[in-house]
Amino acid sequence: MCIFAETSYRIPKFAVYFMSVITQQAESFLFRYLNNPSPTGFEAAGQKLWLEYIRPYVDEWGIDNYGTAYGVINPGKDFRVVIEGHADEISWFVHFIGEDGFLQVVRNGGSDHLIAPSKRVNIHTKKGIVKGVFGWPAIHTRHGDDANLTPKVENLFIDVGAATKDEVLAMGIHVGCVITYEDESFLLNDRFYVGRALDNRMGGFCIAEVARLLQEQKVELPYSLYVVNAVQEEVGLRGAEMIAQTIRPNVAIVTDVTHDSNTPLLNKRKIGDVKCGAGPSVTYAPAVHNILLDLILTTAEENKIAIQREAASRRTGTDTDAFAYANGGIPSALISLPLRYMHTTVEMAHKDDVDAVIRLIFETLKKIEYGHNFKYF
Ligand SMILES: [Zn+2]
Repeated sequence: MCIFAETSYRIPKFAVYFMSVITQQAESFLFRYLNNPSPTGFEAAGQKLWLEYIRPYVDEWGIDNYGTAYGVINPGKDFRVVIEGHADEISWFVHFIGEDGFLQVVRNGGSDHLIAPSKRVNIHTKKGIVKGVFGWPAIHTRHGDDANLTPKVENLFIDVGAATKDEVLAMGIHVGCVITYEDESFLLNDRFYVGRALDNRMGGFCIAEVARLLQEQKVELPYSLYVVNAVQEEVGLRGAEMIAQTIRPNVAIVTDVTHDSNTPLLNKRKIGDVKCGAGPSVTYAPAVHNILLDLILTTAEENKIAIQREAASRRTGTDTDAFAYANGGIPSALISLPLRYMHTTVEMAHKDDVDAVIRLIFETLKKIEYGHNFKYF
């Protein structure tokens, strides 16, 4: 994703808003939304939950053939603005079922093979969830050639407690069943949301909260706003590619997660300097439109929202790229939520950052005009 970032223009931390915009009701939706599995390609149940939550805050809603869901505020204008997050979570597929009843897996998205051993999993079948565990040889047995045994996709295996392949099949498991971790989310030290797939359901949550604020504060937008929760980001920005062509927006503001580089073992010089709790991160990249980025930066300054900066080489690796390069070029920008331990089951996001991402998108939308001119000269 991003290989360099600089943060020298940070606004002091004390300037951040003191009152959170996240209500109790919103937070309880967030936990329900996070705990509901939404593997790439199988996002429908999560999209239903999300749509149910935003429906009171939007005038219309829709869903495309692959499951990207959106709400529309002030529909019918011929200037369209998108705010977007992605709905899918990384997962595994059942790839092979051995005669001995053990399962091999392949990735669905960028699942981390190193964290898999000893994890409990949910295998999604037509008969419902079947439990399993990623097994691993005991430390006592790893001698000689096996002393340096490390997890690889090829040597990972799932144990469902079955003795034969026929038993596995009888449980409803077949090749192609999708597998998620059972880990659920919680609040750590009253400060961090922790769980799997905060990447990027925090984004879906933030844009939903923006819709709520627009409605509650009776903001009248001069354009049609599309609040978009896209599918299939984790396998190459596919949902965004599709919906960009369907909506044909004039502007797109994308929100995703970015790496907090201030935890042990990470090299800030290599991956950039971003920290949880220090505010949303904005990205400089060829795909990011400079006029839109300037608008976001001015908005942050005027509203005393601390931001961080990073630069992306070639690609942002987010749905920003998909929107930017669609339909002859859609002015696009990326507002990222700093995240620890991406693609593990203990991803962490700071509450203050979530709050600030919501405010920054909300305030930026108020500054976009109908027919906003994005020409450089
Ligand atoms: Zn991801």
